[in-house]
Amino acid sequence: MITHKILLAHPLPPSLTNELPALASVVELHSLPDPEAYLQEKGSEFTVLVTTGTDGVDAALLSSLPNLQAICSLGVGYDAIDLDAVRAHDLVLSNTPDVLNDCVADLAIGLLIDTVRGLSAADRHVRRGDWPRIGPTKPTTRVSGKRLGLLGMGRIGQVIARRAAGFDMDIRYHTRNAKPELPWQHEASLMNLAQWCDFLIVACPATPTTYHMVTADVLKALGPQGYLINIARGTVVDENALVTALQTGELAGAGLDVYEHEPKVPVELFTMEHVVLLPHIGSATHETRAAMCSLVVDNVRSYLEQGHLLTPVNVSKT
Ligand code: NAP
Repeated sequence: MITHKILLAHPLPPSLTNELPALASVVELHSLPDPEAYLQEKGSEFTVLVTTGTDGVDAALLSSLPNLQAICSLGVGYDAIDLDAVRAHDLVLSNTPDVLNDCVADLAIGLLIDTVRGLSAADRHVRRGDWPRIGPTKPTTRVSGKRLGLLGMGRIGQVIARRAAGFDMDIRYHTRNAKPELPWQHEASLMNLAQWCDFLIVACPATPTTYHMVTADVLKALGPQGYLINIARGTVVDENALVTALQTGELAGAGLDVYEHEPKVPVELFTMEHVVLLPHIGSATHETRAAMCSLVVDNVRSYLEQGHLLTPVNVSKT
């Protein structure tokens, strides 16, 4: 019979560090004085690794855990986890899908309205004391009834679309596979979607095929009246091209929760009033983070007690 041992590679929320020790012996690698030396001596004892979707796992760490069987990750995106190494070591992987859909979709709609109606810019205007000096901020652009394009129509994209329907928006989406069961029109090309829509929301995963999918040409197609909202991953957008399009007025504005090199944000964006910048907080509510942590614990428990994960990721090459 295997004695399971859990390694926590990075700092995790207290609910996880408090609950996991009830399932098996737990070691927090990041709090050890010399993690590398520790792994050399004890790496073979661990069977389960718990990490986060943003901290991820690299090939070097996996090589130091020869008896590892499962990785349980906090978050739905797993682009920071080296999938080649996961496959090479024949590991199973879980993430935390669905429980965060509502909060990420809420944030996407909030970010869209903030960006297009200039809420954060208007807030700064009032705080600077500019209202009594020079009057209110200038009129902005209407949100309701506009054309919304979604790049990605998965779990989160569909919740965003349902919310946008409440704003009487006309909705279309681009994915590799059309979903005829959904009431929204599929566009076979991202370029066509960008040409058609007023607002483009990015809601697809970061993968080799989505890397820099939002190119300078896509931004040009979105146009000087168009807005880009990204709540997915920074690498889906060519960030240099985005900065240029915002500087030249080829794009009306952008709302960003994610960046190519987080937590680094291009400094050029800091002074742009037509851009709203958030620090990757899509799922960051007490309720949703608690649900995500519970799902990680449930995945670990299920793996330890029954040998399978509750929400496994398909790690085979697609
Ligand atoms: P999902 O259910 O897997 O949906 C992904 C969608 O993207 C699918 O519609 C998929 O359709 C589409 N897609 C994948 N590759 C594509 C490609 N090459 N071209 C066009 N479309 C493509 O994922 P989800 O749960 O909705 O999450 C989406 C992403 O949001 C996550 O991967 C994560 O990175 C991000 N996220 C961010 C936050 C935040 O805090 N900001 C929070 C949660 C999630 P096809 O397969 O048919 O192409």
